[in-house]
Amino acid sequence: MNLIFFGIIGSGKGTQAELISNKFHIPIISTGNIFRRNIKNKTKLGIQIEHILAKGHLVDDEITVQVLKNELKKTNLKKGIILDGFPRTLHQAKMLEHILSIDHVFNISLSEHEVRTRISNRRTCKCGATYHIKHNPPKKEGICDKCKRKLFVRDDSKPAVVKNRIRVYKNKTEKLIEFYKEKKILININGNLAIKEVFKQISDKIIELKKK
Ligand code: AMP
Repeated sequence: MNLIFFGIIGSGKGTQAELISNKFHIPIISTGNIFRRNIKNKTKLGIQIEHILAKGHLVDDEITVQVLKNELKKTNLKKGIILDGFPRTLHQAKMLEHILSIDHVFNISLSEHEVRTRISNRRTCKCGATYHIKHNPPKKEGICDKCKRKLFVRDDSKPAVVKNRIRVYKNKTEKLIEFYKEKKILININGNLAIKEVFKQISDKIIELKKK
């Protein structure tokens, strides 16, 4: 099964992609994670794109597609693939059609108000762990459960950047909903529910689709 996890910032698409990947043993490619890894490791690509992510803009389509292609080459596709955060523009979606055939697109929807509250409550650790100060707080306030380091607000979770990311989503990414709806492969998921419930909605749907 080749799947796309689609949704606005804060929709939980990354979290759900990971949960589904673990349950069904389908590998994930997250362009956002690849970009962040490159920035952390100060690679040539990382240095080139750091300011783009920091501002909440999109990385150039050609670069992003190349990154995806390279990652696909390294991935075992026997069980399919989950794409998290790709495509994000119509151009990327059209290029993807020449690379991979997509079976289903999970569109995790969330109100703009909920996006803002979720992101402002998000805390991150250098080790990669993420928390939500209300729904998934660390045991000790401000400290990572796993490595005991101090938690911080990720640059791309700061209000001005979040505002920009919402704008970019509305202008460039949201139109993909219509694109995949026309192809009859779009599945809408209510992202306003708790992580566990959203996960159940998606898992049940995948089990149902596998039986077909
Ligand atoms: P994410 O973790 O999916 O929210 O992605 C974090 C950031 O990486 C985005 O705000 C973009 O700057 C960049 N990014 C991730 N995926 C893409 C993509 N498919 N196209 C362009 N930029 C992307």
